[in-house]
Amino acid sequence: MADYVIRGAAIVSVDPEIGNLSCGDILVKGDRIVAVGPDLAVEDAEVIDGSRMIAMPGLVNAHNHLWQTVIRGIGSNFAGSDYFNYLHAGAAPRFTPEDILYSEMAGGLASIDSGTTTVFDWCHNNPTPEHSDAAIDGLQASGVRALFGHGTVKPKPKPGEPHFSEIPHPRAHIERLRKGRLASDDALVTLAMCVLGPDYATLDVCRQDFALAKEMGLISSAHVWGRRNRLNPGGYLDLLKEGLLPAGHNAVHANYIPDEEIRALVEAGCTITATPPVELRGHGVPPLIGRVAAQGGRPSVANDTEVGVGGDMFSTLRLSLQADRFYRNVQTQRELEEGTNPAAAAFEAENLKTIGTGGGVYQKEYITTGEALKWATINNAAVLGMEHRIGSLTPGKKADIVLLRRDDWNLSPALNPENAVAMFAHPGNVDTVLIDGEIRKRHGKLIDSAAEARALSEIRSRGPRLMADAGYPDIAW
Ligand SMILES: [Zn+2]
Repeated sequence: MADYVIRGAAIVSVDPEIGNLSCGDILVKGDRIVAVGPDLAVEDAEVIDGSRMIAMPGLVNAHNHLWQTVIRGIGSNFAGSDYFNYLHAGAAPRFTPEDILYSEMAGGLASIDSGTTTVFDWCHNNPTPEHSDAAIDGLQASGVRALFGHGTVKPKPKPGEPHFSEIPHPRAHIERLRKGRLASDDALVTLAMCVLGPDYATLDVCRQDFALAKEMGLISSAHVWGRRNRLNPGGYLDLLKEGLLPAGHNAVHANYIPDEEIRALVEAGCTITATPPVELRGHGVPPLIGRVAAQGGRPSVANDTEVGVGGDMFSTLRLSLQADRFYRNVQTQRELEEGTNPAAAAFEAENLKTIGTGGGVYQKEYITTGEALKWATINNAAVLGMEHRIGSLTPGKKADIVLLRRDDWNLSPALNPENAVAMFAHPGNVDTVLIDGEIRKRHGKLIDSAAEARALSEIRSRGPRLMADAGYPDIAW
C-alpha cells in the first residue's frame, strides 16, 4: 500500500480542532491519515496535486438497500402500499444469490463513484445463507466500506405459515456470519442486524431480536414510522422500560413518533436516521432532523431505497438541509400568524423595514451548511458505530478521503468550500476517492474498470429479467 500526500487543497475537515483550511496538505500512510495541515514536511510519499481541489471526508450513507440497485428507479411513482406489494411481496422472492451479488457490487461502485465511501447496507433480502454470502461478496468486490445489515424478508404468508411479524430473527444466520467471515469489527465490511422492530414485529419477537443483537455485540437497526398501524403502540417506550433496547440501536424514519419517544431513544444512546428523499415524497410531516436536535440528538440523514429515489449523498444532504429549513420556516410563519413567537415577530418587523426585501421569516437559529455536513459524515459514522474510525479528516482515522474539482462549472470559483460541498456539489465533481488508504477513483474514473464493466453488464440484463419474472412490464420498459 503506497503512502500519499495531498498537496495544497482547500480542506473541509469536519474535525473541530482542524476546522476548515483554505490551503493545506493531508498525509496518508498505509490505511490511515497521519497528518493534516499547511506545508507538511513529507518524505517518500506519492504526491496528489490538491490545488484547485476541495478535500473532504468520504460521505457516509446511513441507510440504503443496495440489493435493490438492479431494479433502481422502478418505483418513483409508487404510492400507498405499492412498495411493499411490488417489492417485498412481488420482486424480492425472485432474486437469486447472483442477482444480489451484482446488485450489491454495482451499488458499492456507484457509491464510490459519487463520493460515498461508507454505506450502511440495510440488506433485507436474505432468504438463504447463499444470498447473504453473495451480498457480502458484492460489497467486498466493489471496495466500498460497508456495514452489512443482515435483515429478513417480508413475504405475504402462504396458508398455514406464520406472518413475518411473528418470526424472530434467524439466530443461526447471524451466528454463522458473526463467527465466520464477518467476525472482525475492524474490516472493510462488518456486520449489523436489521430487525423488524416495534412497528413490524410482536413485542416478544422484538425482545428476542434485541437480546440476540446484544449477545452478538452488534448494532441493530429497524424501520419505524410510528403510525397507527404499528404493532406495538408504545413503540420503543415499552422496550426501554424493560431495559431491552441496546445502546447504539438505530431507528430509521420515525417521523410520526412523539417527542417523548425521541427523547427516550436519545437518552438511551440510540440513533435516529431521517431519509428525506423518501419521506418528502410520501409523507406530510417533517423528516426527523430538527426534532432530533431539539431533543439533544445528532441528526443523521440517508437516501433509503433507490427503487424510488437517487442514492447520492450530495443531493441527499442538500435536500435534507432545505427540507429542514423549509419546515422551520413553515412553523415560524404559523407562529407569526398566531402571535406566539415574539422573537420572530421582532426580527420580521426589523427585516421588513428594508423596502422590497424578500427576507425570510426568521433565520437566526437556522442550521448552517457546516452543521449539515456533519449529518452526512461524522454523525452518520456514529450511527454505524464507526465515529472513531471515519467521518472526518482526523489524524489516526482511516484514510477515507474525497477530492472535488473546484473549477468545475457548477462549483467555480467555490469561494466558500463548505458551502460548495453542501449546496452545489454533485457526483460528477468527484475527482479522487481514497478508501482505507487505497485509491478507488482518480481523475474522475473508477480505478477498477473491469469490475465496473462487469457490474454494469450484469445489472443491465438482470434488471429486465427480474421485472419480467415479477410481471411488471408496465413499470419497467
Ligand atoms: Zn429502508
